[in-house]
Amino acid sequence: MHPLEWYIDNGIDLKINTAVKEIDTSSLSIITDSGNHSFDSIIVSIGAGPIVPPFVKEITKTCLPLWNIENAKTIRSALNKPTNILIVGGGVIGVETALRALDSGHNVSIIEREARLMPRNFSVKASDMIRQHLEKKGINILLQTEVKETFNNNESTITSFSDGKQAEYGLVLLSIGALRKLSLANASDIKTGKGIITNTYLQTLSQNIYACGDIAQLNSIVQCSAKEATIQGRVAALNSLASVTGGNFSEYIHSYPAVSLKYGDFEIHSMGNVPENETEEHIFDGSDENTYRACIVKKEKTVGIQMIGTGKDFNKLANTVKHI
Ligand SMILES: Cc1cc2nc3c(=O)[nH]c(=O)nc-3n(C[C@H](O)[C@H](O)[C@H](O)COP(=O)(O)OP(=O)(O)OC[C@H]3O[C@@H](n4cnc5c(N)ncnc54)[C@H](O)[C@@H]3O)c2cc1C
Repeated sequence: MHPLEWYIDNGIDLKINTAVKEIDTSSLSIITDSGNHSFDSIIVSIGAGPIVPPFVKEITKTCLPLWNIENAKTIRSALNKPTNILIVGGGVIGVETALRALDSGHNVSIIEREARLMPRNFSVKASDMIRQHLEKKGINILLQTEVKETFNNNESTITSFSDGKQAEYGLVLLSIGALRKLSLANASDIKTGKGIITNTYLQTLSQNIYACGDIAQLNSIVQCSAKEATIQGRVAALNSLASVTGGNFSEYIHSYPAVSLKYGDFEIHSMGNVPENETEEHIFDGSDENTYRACIVKKEKTVGIQMIGTGKDFNKLANTVKHI
């Protein structure tokens, strides 16, 4: 993230190309492929990886996850000529990718196994508006449909679907979520659930070992957000230091999952819960067919805010969202 000199200037002993194989929780040492090192405190922030579903037998240059810089380079070179693209997963990253690919002149489809796009972030009404907006632009959307199998065909990937149909794509992009890499924690006897389990001080159940970012699980929630990872990183660093120096501990205040995306005339924002049985959706702005602003209310408290076509007062209203 910084030039090598930055780490030297700041007294950080950076070891790149070095993987931690195991953490010895009793001696607080790490075992790497290039030797062992001891510490007073350890912060585990090894992130997550993409979910690669069983229907993908091998990652190829025409069937790959949307995850890292290497994936981005492969995708960029595939986009040099107009092609058919299938995006697997109708979450915010899939939708943003679809919009950008469409603008670059490609034929784009999104497949989502749930009944609506971004089901964890938007109500039925809001998701339907998003779908209509994307379809009007020319994006083909397949809902309640799953990919069953993919076959590498050299310059393309042949894909078969749960509805029995089959199609050929120059690019199949997987955007179906994050998978926590728990093998290091499990090999080290650090307690895990969906991620490495921590308390609000980001302490794991092992003495002087902290976890933060995508790998950390707090109150049964694992996040996948650079913003939250950065805040957690600060808290974990302060507490790791406090555990050694005897200073004060800081608490990480968990925030609601939020998504915001603005691309051209497409704008969506969501924070908090989507409507479910005990919640009500109060639409306070539906001035035209492209605009929607709503509060999600549960037991007379605002538990979510959703907006389409505008971000007016989103941050102000997001601050009123309450945990229930
Ligand atoms: C396509 C995409 C778009 C995204 N867009 C956004 C966005 O717009 N806004 C947002 O807030 N978030 C976004 N995110 C999420 C965000 O990137 C992550 O939440 C964030 O990077 C998590 O930071 P982290 O430090 O926990 O993990 P990472 O950034 O994944 O860093 C973990 C590091 O640990 C290293 N590592 C792993 N195992 C070991 C080991 N055994 N030994 C040594 N090193 C190891 C890895 O190589 C990696 O460098 C996006 C993610 C993706 C995939």
